[in-house]
Amino acid sequence: MADLMGLTAPELKELAERLGEPAYRGTQVAKWLYKQGVTDLDAMTDLPKAFREKLKAEGYRGGSLQVAKVQVASDGTRKFLFDSSGCGMIESVLMPSEYGLSVCVSTQIGCAVKCAFCATGLSGFQRNLSAGEIVEQVVLMQQECGDRVTNVVFMGMGEPLHNYDATLKAVQLLNNEVGIGMRHISVSTSGVVPGIDRLSEENLQLTLAFSLHAPNDKLRDYLVPLNRRYNLAALKKALRNYHDRTKRRITVEYVMLGGVNDSPDLARETVEWLRGLHVHVNLIPYNATDADFKPSRPQTIAAFRDILDAAGFPVTVRVERGADIAAACGQLRRQAEPPEAGSPPQEASTRA
Ligand code: SAH
Ligand code: SF4
Repeated sequence: MADLMGLTAPELKELAERLGEPAYRGTQVAKWLYKQGVTDLDAMTDLPKAFREKLKAEGYRGGSLQVAKVQVASDGTRKFLFDSSGCGMIESVLMPSEYGLSVCVSTQIGCAVKCAFCATGLSGFQRNLSAGEIVEQVVLMQQECGDRVTNVVFMGMGEPLHNYDATLKAVQLLNNEVGIGMRHISVSTSGVVPGIDRLSEENLQLTLAFSLHAPNDKLRDYLVPLNRRYNLAALKKALRNYHDRTKRRITVEYVMLGGVNDSPDLARETVEWLRGLHVHVNLIPYNATDADFKPSRPQTIAAFRDILDAAGFPVTVRVERGADIAAACGQLRRQAEPPEAGSPPQEASTRA
């Protein structure tokens, strides 16, 4: 089976022509998929039946995701669980706010980086998602809620820059076909230096978010094991280069782990590390998962913020969303497929 979702409008036009149809049939398909969120070929009513049958005979289908479950939180946040036609479950989150409708998408099932505090990492890496599967999360959520999505953040399950080609194609489809402004798209990375370098060459107006979490290699090696491969010196160089190329300010994310990375000394060390970078810092309250961490106290977060603020860095504390349905960052992981009864995840208490 091949999915039409994930093909660009020019690719769909080419396909239509290859099947002996006028090119505009491809444009019609693109509208159904990306504007209407319709993936059932038989529901694409302005296409001739013969063309739809030809597509099916050639092994094409609209998309591959089915909505398996939707949970609604008291603040309106909705967590979606998608079944990818028997190839695993994918989680995404939709958050209404005064700025519009934001969605958080996954790029992989599981994640190989295995950050010490992240629920996605605990389950290990399973597979990359295709560009179609990434975009389909957005269009299906848009379709379900009947409103236009305005912002897309790549902060769900997975490390986007470990799935570079699909992520980039998804970004381009979201921009060109779904109509999301490039400046309303954010890609978050735990620090894949070659991926950051490649992305800087694309010179896109999207927002790059970098998950810092610790200002020295010793602590960061432990929290974000990928740091052993790409350390803070290499990362700083890549981020400077990214800004030089794109002129875009980078978002630095810092998850606040009680008693681990939230001391005033570490705030001052963070200030030193950030010097010379054009950044906006986002402090993320930790969402408790199975991992052996606890959230920082609000006054500790405020003190950390004040130190960055006094040093002249723009800094915000992320507002927690969807807490009552575990719909926040790092909490996404195939909850419909819990570990076997009575066996809590073993990795949960692994500490360096
Ligand atoms: N893999 C990418 C993007 C997905 S994670 C990355 O790590 O950047 C998106 C953000 O959520 C990252 O900053 C990540 O560190 C953070 N995160 C992970 N688990 C979390 C948790 N339990 N509570 C709060 N933030 C978490
Ligand atoms: Fe992967 Fe990001 Fe979770 Fe780290 S925080 S394990 S990079 S999804």
